[in-house]
Amino acid sequence: MKVIRVTTPGTLVIDEDPIPVIEASDDVLIQVKAAGICGSDISIYRGTSPVATYPRVIGHEFAGIVTEVGSDVSDLAAGDHVTVNPVCNCGTCRVCKKGRGNVCANLQVIGVHRDGGYREYVKVPRKNVFKISADMPWEKAAIIEPYTVAAQVTSRGGVEEGDIVLVCGSGQIAPTILQVCNILGAKCIMTDLVEDRLTRAKEFGAWETICTKGMSTDEIVAKVKDLTDGIGADVAIDAACVGVTLEQAAKAVRSAGVVVTMGFHDKQAQITEFNITSRELDIRGSRLNNNKFPQVIEWVNAGKLEPTKIVTDTFHFTDIEKALTKLKDDPENTMKVILTF
Ligand code: MN
Repeated sequence: MKVIRVTTPGTLVIDEDPIPVIEASDDVLIQVKAAGICGSDISIYRGTSPVATYPRVIGHEFAGIVTEVGSDVSDLAAGDHVTVNPVCNCGTCRVCKKGRGNVCANLQVIGVHRDGGYREYVKVPRKNVFKISADMPWEKAAIIEPYTVAAQVTSRGGVEEGDIVLVCGSGQIAPTILQVCNILGAKCIMTDLVEDRLTRAKEFGAWETICTKGMSTDEIVAKVKDLTDGIGADVAIDAACVGVTLEQAAKAVRSAGVVVTMGFHDKQAQITEFNITSRELDIRGSRLNNNKFPQVIEWVNAGKLEPTKIVTDTFHFTDIEKALTKLKDDPENTMKVILTF
């Protein structure tokens, strides 16, 4: 079978590997049908991921057909259509026992710490597999995962019906957050430096947009307050993750509000203890997802969520180089790119 392997940062090859063999009793072998390309796949390829190890078969957003199962797997069978949660946790560390397995002390992410889904067959543990209906299109099933990230962010933010959510940055992940906020009955103020992205955010249901090009943090905060009766946003999500956006989020959120971070950026942000204490802010990280697959699959099945709205391009997986070039050269017109198998 063919696999897409990043051998070292910057080098990607299409290798020929043997099809994985069922070994453990909870193994599930899946024939991959479609996979999404995520910003984090690109950072593993470029060598900017702080967590990846090499060589690595990348891809953590994928779906396919079960072809074989281990001896203990009784609730899945060959022919079932499934999608995969890339989060593997130990289940026994203190963090897992606290119910926070997505940041497990021994966390392994499929496609990051172990080989992922950009290959014709992949073997994963039963607990990572979620059955989907046989009529769900593959490109839809493949990108359940980015919506679980959005569901995690909104859950960490405590987003509720009637909330006004500030989303700093309207890039790749932002439209998924916006869609999930709208399902929850919250309104989004979206920001970005690029007007075209805000036009797109409007199309995705943004309540208000702010083009932050040339604006100071104080001006951005003032604008958010204008839109929120002088109070500030209930929840502020940093979806740009460039340091200064965290500062904007922390200042534009209301007292007793929640700020959520999503990025792995290590730039310092100017946030004072006074700002946090005097206004009792919660500043929370959000990583991957914590058991959000069932919720997102339910939203898709109920027609509340249309994942394919973010799909702009589809390539056969052997054209991965073309797909990466499109993402690099035309970022403003490229959102989710799907690889087919
Ligand atoms: Mn992803």
